[in-house]
Amino acid sequence: MTAYVRGDLATAKRIVVKVGSSSISGDAAWRIESLVDAMIGARSRGQEIILVSSGAIATAVSLMDLGEKPADLATQQAAAAVGQNVLLWRWQSSLDRFGVLAGQVLLTLSDMQNPTPRSNARRAIDKLLDLGVLPIVNENDTVATHEIRFGDNDRLSALVAQLTKADALVLLSDITALYTAPPDRPGSRPIDVVAPDADLTEFEFGGKVVNSVGTGGAATKASAARLAQDHGIGVLVTSADNAAGALNGEHVGTWFEPAHVESPLTDALSVILQDAPEE
Ligand code: GLU
Repeated sequence: MTAYVRGDLATAKRIVVKVGSSSISGDAAWRIESLVDAMIGARSRGQEIILVSSGAIATAVSLMDLGEKPADLATQQAAAAVGQNVLLWRWQSSLDRFGVLAGQVLLTLSDMQNPTPRSNARRAIDKLLDLGVLPIVNENDTVATHEIRFGDNDRLSALVAQLTKADALVLLSDITALYTAPPDRPGSRPIDVVAPDADLTEFEFGGKVVNSVGTGGAATKASAARLAQDHGIGVLVTSADNAAGALNGEHVGTWFEPAHVESPLTDALSVILQDAPEE
C-alpha cells in the first residue's frame, strides 16, 4: 500500500532503503550494524526491505590506501571490484546475527533500459524477497563507464523503487533533512514536507557533490525523490542515524508526498523503461 504520509512507513509493505557511501565506509563502517538492526526491525513487522547500498568504491579507498576516490575510470572500476566484495561481506556478517542472507544485485543503466534484463532483475528481487533474503543492490561499477552510469545511487534507488513497485523509498545519508539552502547559511531551515506540485527551484540545494567518498548531495537527493514522487512513491530523506525512527514512521527528515497516479506501471517512466514478457 502506497505510503501517503510519513507515518505510513511503519506499515508500508515494501520499502527501498538507500544508504550513502559516507555513512557506512571507512570510519563509519560500524554503522552497518545499526542499519541492519533497523531493517530487521521492519522485517519483523512483516515489511519487505530492499537495500540499495553505496560504498563499494569508498570501502576500497580506505582498504587499498588509495587516499581518495580515484579519478581515472579503470582504477574506479578496480576499486569497486574489491570494495563491493568487502561491503557485501560486512552486510552479511551483520545479518548473520539474525540468520538472514543477503542477495547481491548489481545493475547497470542499460539493464534498466532494456526489457529483458529489467524484467529478470525484477523477478530475481521478488524471488529473493519471497525466500526471506535481503536484496542488496548497487550499480555494477566494474563494468559501468562514465557515459552509461546511473552516476549516483539516489537515482538508481528511485528506479529500483519503481521497478519493484515499492510503496516507499527512504534515502539515508549524513544529513538529517533537506534544507531550504545550505544548512550553514543564516535563515536556512529544514524542509518538512514537499508536495508533489511544489516548485523545487524555490530551494537552493547546491550542485552535485562528487567527493572522496561518494557522489550525491542534496540536489541529487531532491531530484531522485522528485522522480519517485512523480511516479506515486513517497520518499523520506534523512540521516542514517535516523534509520530506525524513519522505518517506525516517526516524524524525521523531509517527506516527499507521492503524487496520485492511476497506475505507476503505465506512467511516463515505462516509456523509457519498458516492461518485457518474462523469460
Ligand atoms: N555505486 C557507487 C559505489 O558503490 C556509489 C555511487 C554513489 O555515490 O551514489 O561506490
